[in-house]
Amino acid sequence: MQRQTITEIAAALREGSVTSRQLTEAALARIDAGDGALNAFITVTKDQALIAADAADAVLAAGNGGPLTGVPIAHKDIFCTRDILTTCGSRILDNFVSPYDATVVSNLAAAGAVVVGKTNMDEFAMGSSNETSFFGPVANPWDTARSPGGSSGGSAAAVAAGFVPAATGTDTGGSIRQPAALTGITGFKPTYGRVSRYGMIAFASSLDQAGVLSLTAEDAALMMQAIAGFDPRDSTSADCPVPEYAAVLGSSLEGKRVGIPAEFFDAGLEAESAACIRAAITVFEALGATAEEVSLPHIDASVPTYYIVAPAECSSNLSRFDGVRFGHRHADPKDLEELYKLTRKEGFGAEVKRRIMTGTYVLSAGYYDAYYLQAQKARQLIADDFRRCFESVDILAGPTTPTPAFRLGEKMDDPVQMYLNDIYTIGVNLAGLPGVSLPCGFSAGLPVGLQLIGPAFGEQTVLNFAHRYQQQTDWHLKTPDCVAGS
Ligand code: GLN
Repeated sequence: MQRQTITEIAAALREGSVTSRQLTEAALARIDAGDGALNAFITVTKDQALIAADAADAVLAAGNGGPLTGVPIAHKDIFCTRDILTTCGSRILDNFVSPYDATVVSNLAAAGAVVVGKTNMDEFAMGSSNETSFFGPVANPWDTARSPGGSSGGSAAAVAAGFVPAATGTDTGGSIRQPAALTGITGFKPTYGRVSRYGMIAFASSLDQAGVLSLTAEDAALMMQAIAGFDPRDSTSADCPVPEYAAVLGSSLEGKRVGIPAEFFDAGLEAESAACIRAAITVFEALGATAEEVSLPHIDASVPTYYIVAPAECSSNLSRFDGVRFGHRHADPKDLEELYKLTRKEGFGAEVKRRIMTGTYVLSAGYYDAYYLQAQKARQLIADDFRRCFESVDILAGPTTPTPAFRLGEKMDDPVQMYLNDIYTIGVNLAGLPGVSLPCGFSAGLPVGLQLIGPAFGEQTVLNFAHRYQQQTDWHLKTPDCVAGS
């Protein structure tokens, strides 16, 4: 059994060599056989998936439908799904069934995609290893003793293992790109505002952005076409037209300028990974682009800035989980105050509590100026650094993570070590830019990710560079042993 891309599946469906029902049954069977070892799914939606597959087959039989019609996919369990459990990886939502669909979910349903389940994730998307999930860690298909990254670790593992050709994810500080890098797949994070956040459970609202995990940039373009666009139900949604993403794929890189941020090749970057990234840049040069060193002088402030801004926003967003309106409620409180306290004590895990406490502290009257205000200023400086770079280059290229996949348990006792895993991804969220991670080699048998970053609303440029790279290389075709064995 080999992994198949959306593009290949769509062609087979149109040719009539396979039906959506057969594809969906096969995906469900792979999950059934393989997910015991990975724990990529929190909920498998077999019955709903088969109904959706039959509906897609009817559309296809009538000669209708688009490239996603009948294609099995999965949603990160942060997206609200009507009539299906939405946990956000937390005990506090372990019984929550949303009365409505997130816009990302309804857009993909309208495009005919078939949802086979909801994927595991770090609790409220807070984490870089999938170990903060109430539903247990996810294993990396390349080595089950290692983390697939996080917080979209379930989506990444499900795609890398060939359960589904694509899955949704969210990226607040790297949660699409980092797990894509650690599992050897393609992870695309659009510009802030490009995809609606309606129905996507909020972590840090000024940073959260939905995107996709897939096997190729070509497939990411197809998924993006379905989910991108203005949504009046999200006040930060960008009201600008969505271009045809697939239309630019394959265009020439002749004369394009690739910027290489010097700060991304620091002492923290593992040598073998650095060699893979450098080799990847020569592929763009061979395609006619030029590479030059650029500087992001304030990027070293990105992790500390993020760990003020994100907890501040999360402390506000997560105040809604109080046991009154939805989710878990303490069984026997003696009064209202105890209801709040014990519900939140039982419902939230340690990392979520750490962030809520940090956030409350940095927003408090006595410390607001010293922390939150300073962080907002630093954020602006970081965003300005990126903007300055894009005055002279078309795209930035560098590593996605400092090292390949680390062992489960390795960083759990040291939050700062865990936070530093996102050192190359977090600045992109602070600046609101689009970025992608692509497989570009291996270090000691583990995948290495190449990160490409574009200017705001430069999705087409990022996807085209990624696609041209994948036309020249075959790293994205390498599969973990568990795929061949299934
Ligand atoms: N790993 C980062 C964090 O823990 C980013 C998470 C994310 O992008 N959702 O906050």
